[in-house]
Amino acid sequence: MKITSVETRVVSLPFTMGGPYNYFAGQKWDHLEILLVKVQTEDGLVGWGEAFGHACIDSTRVALERIVAPLVMGQDAREIKELSQRVLRSTHLLGRNGAHVFAYSGIEIALWDLAGKRAQQPIWKLLGGVEQASLTAYASLLTYTDPSLVSQNVAQAAQEGYRYIKLHETTREATQAALNAAGAQGAKIMLDVNCAWAPAQAREVANSLKEDGLLWLEEPVWPPEDLSGLAGVRRIGIPIAAGENVAGVHGFESLIDAGAIDIAQPSVTKIGGIGEVVQVIQLAKARGIKVQLHCPYFGPGLIASIHIAAALIEDPLIEILWMQMSANPFDPWVRAEDGRIRVPKLGGLGVEPDEKILAQYTRGEVVKVS
Ligand SMILES: [Mg+2]
Repeated sequence: MKITSVETRVVSLPFTMGGPYNYFAGQKWDHLEILLVKVQTEDGLVGWGEAFGHACIDSTRVALERIVAPLVMGQDAREIKELSQRVLRSTHLLGRNGAHVFAYSGIEIALWDLAGKRAQQPIWKLLGGVEQASLTAYASLLTYTDPSLVSQNVAQAAQEGYRYIKLHETTREATQAALNAAGAQGAKIMLDVNCAWAPAQAREVANSLKEDGLLWLEEPVWPPEDLSGLAGVRRIGIPIAAGENVAGVHGFESLIDAGAIDIAQPSVTKIGGIGEVVQVIQLAKARGIKVQLHCPYFGPGLIASIHIAAALIEDPLIEILWMQMSANPFDPWVRAEDGRIRVPKLGGLGVEPDEKILAQYTRGEVVKVS
């Protein structure tokens, strides 16, 4: 079943976040953007995927359109494992963790969507899972810096039914504000600092947070490849989560070998797609390490993560960015309700974008490689 075209587009959704907007890589982040990938096969069947975009959306898109999409053209969409090997091998000298792997991740997710549609089975079933109506979600708050805004937004998330809340903050003050926020007393708090500190500083802050009962501390060390630095922070005793910035299953093996993590966080739109995440889960299981997926997405990347978690992760917590988003072409599947997110039941990803909403929020051109 030959692949006949790969289409890319950027879906750009306005949002508010209960505070001033954040900046990433020098850019104001005031729209949620999905780098949406549509793969079609010769029988006319269509699969949807998502490649990691964020502030690097333009570079991922160029990699996708110029290098990766041409490599899969005319190939058999059913041979996902072989295709992954071929594409990742032939682009390896361009970087094992960057635009080309992000780009291929979007195609790979679309291939699983196609496979499930063809088999008339949801992806969680293809992965050996059993039916579940919904999974526990956690509110992944954006950065507010101001503790009073942290407190306000944590209280709001708790009121909406979230019992697990993650902060993107770097101070104990902000963590205290979350722990003491109205209605949050029974909630579990996680802290993600996005590689903020050198190891010595990370150990100092981790020591100050030791008695706060955090469910996990995420990526405390800069640079993310300093595995012994991370292992030193872990010895303080707060569970350490990391992995959104490592390359492939062997990146996780190195993290585990170094004694650096308690929780592995593979990211399906970055690491090479569903197949690579499955390998990470198998490795982590064999080594006694928990997995919680990195999935602050709002399109097929999130939906694919829900399928993987439903099938293969024990007590999964699904990351849902906590902000107020306008209409999304993948509604209602990308929204949590009362702290839970639904698991689709139809074939493949089990969701189809609403074409009208898609057209309304598409930014710029739709590009078709065929
Ligand atoms: Mg993170």
